[in-house]
Amino acid sequence: MSEKIVKTIICPKCSEKSETEIICSVNGKDVPDMKKDVLSDKFFKWKCPRCRFETQLLHPLLYNDMENDFMVYYIPNTKRRILVDEKIESEFADLSDVKKRLVSNVSELKEKIALLDENTNDMAMELAKHAVERIVEKTANKTVYEGYFLEMSQEENTVSFQFFVGTEKRPYIQTTRLEVYRRSLEIVRQYFSDTDSQSGFIKIDREWAKEAFRIYKSR
Ligand SMILES: [Zn+2]
Repeated sequence: MSEKIVKTIICPKCSEKSETEIICSVNGKDVPDMKKDVLSDKFFKWKCPRCRFETQLLHPLLYNDMENDFMVYYIPNTKRRILVDEKIESEFADLSDVKKRLVSNVSELKEKIALLDENTNDMAMELAKHAVERIVEKTANKTVYEGYFLEMSQEENTVSFQFFVGTEKRPYIQTTRLEVYRRSLEIVRQYFSDTDSQSGFIKIDREWAKEAFRIYKSR
C-alpha cells in the first residue's frame, strides 16, 4: 500500500554511489510498523553499504493513517503554512473528516503522530503549549526556541512538554495540570472548529497557536 521510489545516493563520506529505496507515502497496513520506525528515529536512517557510514536521509513523506482519520505531510524545511495537493484530495474521495497536517521537521512529524494517533486534539495541545511556554519564559527567564508535547497522564492529571531554552537550546521539561489542555480544547471547539473542514494540509504549530491566541483574546 505504500509508495516507494528508488534513488541514487552518494555517500558523503566515501562517495560511493548506491541505490536506495525511499518510502514517500505510508498507507494502510504498513502504518503500525512505520509509526514505530518514525517515533524511534529509525525511519530516516541511511547506512552506506560500502563504508557503513550512517546519516539521516530526510525526504518528503505522506503519512496516512485512515484508521485514526489523519494525514501528516512532512516536507523538510517547508516555509508554507498550507499546502493544497489536488492529486491527494482527488485520490481520497472524502477527506472532510480527516485531519490534514503539514510539518517541516522530524520532531514535528513525531509530535503529530503521537498526538493524533491517541485522538488528542493537536490544536488544543498547541494552545496549551503556548500558555506553558510563556510560564517557562517567565520562571526560567530564558528564551524558548522550540517545544514539543512529551506526555499526558489522565491518572496524574498532568501534561508535560519538552522545551529548548537559552542560547545553548538546553532541554527543559515543564509539567502542568491537564486543565490547561482541557481549557484549550474548549477554546478550539468554540472558535476554531471550522479549521479542519478546509481543504489542504495546514500547519498547526507554535506560529498558529500565537495567532490563534491573539484572535481568541481579541474576541
Ligand atoms: Zn560510504
